[in-house]
Amino acid sequence: MVTPIEQRFIDKHQGSADRHEIAKDLFPNGVTHDARRQDPFQLYYTHAIGPHKFDVDGNKFVDYWSGHGSLILGHSHPAIVNAVQNQIAKGTHLSGSTDLEIQWGQLVRELIPSAEKVRFHSSGTEADMMALRMARAYTGKTKIIKFQEHFHGWSDYVAVGGEGIGGIPKETLSTMIVLPPNDISVVENTLEENRDVAAVILEPTGAHMGLEPILPSFLQDLREVTSQHGVVLIFDEVVTGFRISRGGAQGFYGVMPDITTMAKILGGGLPGGAVAGRSEIINMIEPTGDPQWDRERRIAHNGTFNANPLSAVAGIAALELVRDEAINEKATAVGNKLKEGLNGLLSKLEIAGCASGVNSLIHLKLGSNHDCDGEICILSHEELQKTTNSIRNAQLNLALLNHGVHSGTRFILSATHSEEDIEYTINAFESALLELREQGSLQ
Ligand code: PMP
Repeated sequence: MVTPIEQRFIDKHQGSADRHEIAKDLFPNGVTHDARRQDPFQLYYTHAIGPHKFDVDGNKFVDYWSGHGSLILGHSHPAIVNAVQNQIAKGTHLSGSTDLEIQWGQLVRELIPSAEKVRFHSSGTEADMMALRMARAYTGKTKIIKFQEHFHGWSDYVAVGGEGIGGIPKETLSTMIVLPPNDISVVENTLEENRDVAAVILEPTGAHMGLEPILPSFLQDLREVTSQHGVVLIFDEVVTGFRISRGGAQGFYGVMPDITTMAKILGGGLPGGAVAGRSEIINMIEPTGDPQWDRERRIAHNGTFNANPLSAVAGIAALELVRDEAINEKATAVGNKLKEGLNGLLSKLEIAGCASGVNSLIHLKLGSNHDCDGEICILSHEELQKTTNSIRNAQLNLALLNHGVHSGTRFILSATHSEEDIEYTINAFESALLELREQGSLQ
């Protein structure tokens, strides 16, 4: 049965409905990314500027997906547009080295405190794959510890513990150890019992872009324990890099990993990834001249689009702005306003839940009554289940789209979101939540 919210969604988005009919025969589920699956259909967008985007039916949205987290400058920032327009006429691939890659690499080193040396890739998935290779090659050990629900791209090893592991050899998965986060004694015991651990990898603000937060003290404990055991500590800063602060989560919390992976903001909205960290680890790519070492220990690494000029110019423009202007501060300030507004609305409507998160990564957790400091809100498994009720959240997402907000329950802020956008968003939430209540979807 179609709910009133779904009916409004269908009526308002006919152009997208028509396109979905074509796309569903062309792509699995009609989409090109798992996170874009949406019932009854995904929307088709045409263009975007600042914090806003537009669909094929002429609807306007305040966008909190922000290019899956890559757009802290908002959409189509003039500096990025100029940089890309200039470069595209000069060549998109020169099959060789450029000044641009030096500039881009220097900016990474300048901003990310633990970066001594850098290697570029084309995505976060690739960067994370390389980080595991480097840790394994460097230590000569095999196992990797990751934490429950932490996301590190879609490659074989890191898919362990999640859904959709079809096609991955069980031997591959058996080299991974999945632990609950925020309990250092579990990590210590695992390292005591298992001497074949090469690395610990984590999202430093927590799983799903901080939905399930990591305690800052756990980061510190991890640093100590991994150092004691000679285990490489990898921060996956694909989302948090250049966002939680200019220097990522490591800069914000003052905890230095051995390796950092980056993507998203790194490429200024174009594809890009990087691994950076201690020189002796990153240098596992360099041949030494010792034939045995070079064959068996060295990491071979190619990649047609590594440090390609278009991504490089966009990345340079983005990182220079992040370095020189109050980009992070602005995104955090509107993030705080949004949290305040949403929490006020929940009280007003007497709906259980909270809006919480660190700086410009905010999550709305509906349906659970709990104490929350607005920042690091750690819920028990049971309470978290209530907040991720997929039927309610799917209705909310559609209702919000009907009211011109693309967020669902997660908000990735940019420096271009204004107080007006926040006000608009809170009003849209009020209408959407009342509609959910009216049709009986607000459990
Ligand atoms: N790590 C984290 C923490 C991510 O959130 C993502 C993507 N959302 C990735 C890695 C993978 O990056 P990409 O999509 O660029 O491959």
